Amino acid sequence: MTAMLEVKNVSKSFGAVRANESISLEVHEGRIVGLIGPNGSGKTTLFSSIVGAHPVDEGSIRFQGREISRLRVADIARLGLIRTFQQTRIYGGMTCVENMLISASQRGSNLLDLFHIRSAARGRQAEDLLAFVGLHAKRHLRAGSLSFGQQKLLEFAMALMNEPKMLMLDEPTAGINPTLIDGLIDRLKQANATFGVTLFIIEHNMRVIMSLAERIYCLAHGELLAEGRPEEIRNDRRVIDAYLGA
Ligand code: ADP
Repeated sequence: MTAMLEVKNVSKSFGAVRANESISLEVHEGRIVGLIGPNGSGKTTLFSSIVGAHPVDEGSIRFQGREISRLRVADIARLGLIRTFQQTRIYGGMTCVENMLISASQRGSNLLDLFHIRSAARGRQAEDLLAFVGLHAKRHLRAGSLSFGQQKLLEFAMALMNEPKMLMLDEPTAGINPTLIDGLIDRLKQANATFGVTLFIIEHNMRVIMSLAERIYCLAHGELLAEGRPEEIRNDRRVIDAYLGA
């Protein structure tokens, strides 16, 4: 079966820094796949290359069989490949519902889309997704008044507003109170199971990624160090030396 996302021999340098060195990996439709590695190992650079935030130096990136490595972010998002960031990107002065509607408009910027986001259906979808992440009661509150963990949930709901086929999450649990992390894990699993969203997740918290992902890729010094099922990765000597044992 062809993978939904196929990364082949992708390299990317910033000046003298070789951030990604001939990386190849695959994410299959409907799966939850993890990307781990020490700080500076090239995880965020790879995500940025995949979503079109910068051009790659070499290699090919295919999404649903289509070469996307020369497409722009908005065009890739329109194909259903969406990414969230480590830092929350919400508008603190706007309500949760308003943030949801704005998020949906970012997938496209033509007039039809603007008309679309004002529709009643979009409003209902925003409310349903806020309920899904447990924020329905807070839907008319300013997003800036939410706790950090709640803001991350809002951001997750905002990403879902774009109806992604694949969602790429950059450290979704970073900075979240440990007691709220299990709730977020459940929501991620549920989004995967209920909406069929394929998830590709960068995560530092080993407990989180081991319980979420079916397959994990590990980077070190810009190169792919290991890949396998969580239990294989956990016991991989190279991974332990480069990362887990650090
Ligand atoms: P990770 O996400 O695994 O922490 P990054 O992809 O952020 O790693 O960084 C990989 C390497 O590329 C690091 O050495 C980092 O300093 C460098 N790097 C990342 N982005 C840029 C950039 N925009 N300009 C210059 N160097 C960068």
